[in-house]
Amino acid sequence: MCLPSIVDVAQEQGLEINPRSLNKKEVYAKCPFCLGDSINGKFKLSLNQEYNVFKCWLCKTSGGVLEFESRLTGKSFTEVKSKYFGQSKKKRHYVEYLNPIQLRKIGWNDYKRQNREDFMKKKDEVLRDWQNYEYNEMVKHFALLMVVSHIENAKERQAELLEYVYESAKKTGIYNLFIKLMEEYTKMDSERSEWALEGVDIARAAWKISLQTYDFDMDNVMKHVLFIYYLNKSEMKNINLKVEKEIV
Ligand SMILES: [Zn+2]
Repeated sequence: MCLPSIVDVAQEQGLEINPRSLNKKEVYAKCPFCLGDSINGKFKLSLNQEYNVFKCWLCKTSGGVLEFESRLTGKSFTEVKSKYFGQSKKKRHYVEYLNPIQLRKIGWNDYKRQNREDFMKKKDEVLRDWQNYEYNEMVKHFALLMVVSHIENAKERQAELLEYVYESAKKTGIYNLFIKLMEEYTKMDSERSEWALEGVDIARAAWKISLQTYDFDMDNVMKHVLFIYYLNKSEMKNINLKVEKEIV
């Protein structure tokens, strides 16, 4: 018997979760059933990780994890149940949890819809694509965040750009990307993940260009970040890294 975790189901179905509650026993999300908390900043749907149950404090909808998935996907309870207790007890491959938005980002969504069987055969390839995508987006967004965090004497502009990074991170389809960024941000370089360090290098190189050209227009600095990021990804990687080392 292997039930999915209720928080995994919520994330898989794209529910908006209160990030501050994510590591707690009681996780809070926006209620997709009554939408009563959709406009205020509140999260009224409680997901209990310990008992794997949900309850909305506004519309009182409640139940277990299978009921939850059934309501969210529109599938019957029996169908959802057989998904987990059906023919095989084999654990699902990570790739099967990627939602359509995420699959679209790596160009696999149509393929999956058109030939599910072939898709399943290629799941390791899909996984590699997803991991690459995820890694690159984390690097890019961390670089942007670092640049924004170094803005001085322009609080409003900084807030505006931070909002841009936040929105952009949301659009990547990577769960809690912005939270991951903030976690890395609070660390010392020596404790940072590889992707974060790569992001720091890119941010530094972008600043360096601004220093050399005396151009501190933030839009341009952000453009430099993206430019160096794409340069790094391209075949010019080796050349660029050399240049970067010389500049920094
Ligand atoms: Zn509700």
